[in-house]
Amino acid sequence: MNKKAMYALSYGLFVVTARVGQKDNGCITNTVAQVTTQPNRITLAVNRTNYTCDMIRESGCFTVSVIAENAEFGLFKRFGFQSGRDTDKFAGYDAVRRAENGALIVTEGTNAWISAKVEQEIDLGSHILFVAEVTDMDTLTETPSATYTYYQNSIKPKPEKKEKTAEGKTVWRCKICGYEYVGEELPEDFICPLCKHPASDFEKVTA
Ligand code: FE
Repeated sequence: MNKKAMYALSYGLFVVTARVGQKDNGCITNTVAQVTTQPNRITLAVNRTNYTCDMIRESGCFTVSVIAENAEFGLFKRFGFQSGRDTDKFAGYDAVRRAENGALIVTEGTNAWISAKVEQEIDLGSHILFVAEVTDMDTLTETPSATYTYYQNSIKPKPEKKEKTAEGKTVWRCKICGYEYVGEELPEDFICPLCKHPASDFEKVTA
């Protein structure tokens, strides 16, 4: 079995937002897809440890802002590489407006938004799969949507090539966010402290 076949799947990128009480939060995901047209339904899989996942379960609805090719890396850092449990991701951020369902729409570096109401949630272990009916939506710009491949090639900053640190130690880099771990072997159960992806998403940095 060649696991590389999975890399042939293409994905979009999205900021998924939810609101509970006065608290707004959001996270980055690549797992939004339209699954039926009548009624118009989408699915969304969210890692169950994400605070946004708890908030969607509690509020029963969410809004998806579709990330476009003009998005800056800062958008990914703000919504992807920190947790809403200990930070207010929307603090000092004004590129937003509120959707009818209460969740915030991100209006910068995005080209459309879709609000949806959860109909079913399916427990997939690491992730919760939400099946949701679209309740409102609109386009924002004509900029093409950013695919995951586009993010990897054109949005994520290119790291400097270095095989070893100045002290001669091996460097492992997270393919998702660029976080670097220094050590001869990367522990199997290592979790990226920035983006929470597992050791399998790290690569040994080669010159
Ligand atoms: Fe990472």
